[in-house]
Amino acid sequence: MNAAKTFHSSKKTDDGFSSDVDAVLDKWKTDYEKLFNSGDNGNFDNNHLGLVIYVKRFIPGRLEEKSSWDYRVLQLARKYSRIQNVEDEINMSNVWDSIQTFEKESWYHEVWNDKNNVNGNKLRFYRLFKTCIGTEPYVKVVNNRCHRCILSLFRAGSLQLKVETGRYARPPEPLQDRLCIFCDSGQIEDEKHILFNCCFYSDIRHVLSFKC
Ligand SMILES: [Zn+2]
Repeated sequence: MNAAKTFHSSKKTDDGFSSDVDAVLDKWKTDYEKLFNSGDNGNFDNNHLGLVIYVKRFIPGRLEEKSSWDYRVLQLARKYSRIQNVEDEINMSNVWDSIQTFEKESWYHEVWNDKNNVNGNKLRFYRLFKTCIGTEPYVKVVNNRCHRCILSLFRAGSLQLKVETGRYARPPEPLQDRLCIFCDSGQIEDEKHILFNCCFYSDIRHVLSFKC
């Protein structure tokens, strides 16, 4: 799971996909069950399905083709630690709990994985306040799509600030050189700077301080 994902809505997005984590996980559950209970390749037949469901084992000779139903189910079974060896019986107990635990732990690991980057993960700001996977209340409270989009970009560290645009430069601009050009503070233009320190936004900050 790509940890940079942001959730713009608790329902359907403009792309037709749900960004609600419960809905997404529920869809995975449905897909998993569908994958387990039905065949989608030319080699599939009802006898084969019945055999697999009954003995919960893969049939030798069915796993060579990477697009085959067996191969794909095997990958899922391995991913969620449902099977040790290909000839073992698939452990179907608590599958749903296993999937949720795996995905949540993978997300957390990805958010905090700096991958030996001296500047840390791009999500170094996001992870300060995003501590667990799930839909944030703001996606339901901020009804204006444009405002919600900007807020999402801000949270994810994707606004066009120097701290972000410096990453795109070739060669990438060192983090300490991505300074704010709107003030003389000599500070890096990042989310914390524009929110709390940059004098360029003092008037807006002053107005907002009376609304919070
Ligand atoms: Zn500034």
